[in-house]
Amino acid sequence: MENLKEQLEGYCLYLKLVQERIIDKSFKEQAPYICCKEGCSHCCERGQYPVSEIEVRYIMLKFAELDEAKKTQILDNIQKIINEKKNKNISSKDYFYQCPFLLDKKCSVYENRAIICRTHGLMFFVDEANGSEKYKIPFCVNLGLNYSNVYDKDSKTVTEEAAKIIGAEIPPQAYNLSLKTLTKKEITEHLGFEFGEIKPLVEWFM
Ligand code: SF4
Ligand code: SF4
Repeated sequence: MENLKEQLEGYCLYLKLVQERIIDKSFKEQAPYICCKEGCSHCCERGQYPVSEIEVRYIMLKFAELDEAKKTQILDNIQKIINEKKNKNISSKDYFYQCPFLLDKKCSVYENRAIICRTHGLMFFVDEANGSEKYKIPFCVNLGLNYSNVYDKDSKTVTEEAAKIIGAEIPPQAYNLSLKTLTKKEITEHLGFEFGEIKPLVEWFM
């Protein structure tokens, strides 16, 4: 990646704008349905975490600031994940793992975490509507967490009626916060950076 310093500056500006104007706003609107809090880490315990090159480089800036014990633990976590994937011969699309940056149920690179880490927890539209399914509810609805107060287990949907019962002003709604949308070149090129390739987090270390 050329001109890395300038690219990271552009990315930081982009991140600030997206965080304030889109992500924070969306979480605020959906606050009656959101249970996210420090120490809740189910969503970092099993996943693939697709991230782009610029996001990984930004994460690694934070990694460089960590103390040696944390660095060692993270590198050890990464190596274990890579070994397990290789030893079990699991393809990338089928391989799920705990994020190596999760230490004691906390994100060790929180300030520099990737976009997918920031948007997770909201309902989101699926890119290609599959049958009648047009949006996805975070998996933690099944753990009694996000959107569980308006979730109907039989139909596996959220209901506006339940939202009225709990007195929420805005109904539960899905947002278009996919990486595909948020990393569009038209959005980023005037800020002077590119997201680059996107792949599962651990594959950046293989
Ligand atoms: S998305 Fe769900 S699992 Fe993740 S922090 Fe929020 S409530 Fe917890
Ligand atoms: S980088 Fe942090 S927030 Fe993102 S998956 Fe890993 S531990 Fe979770």
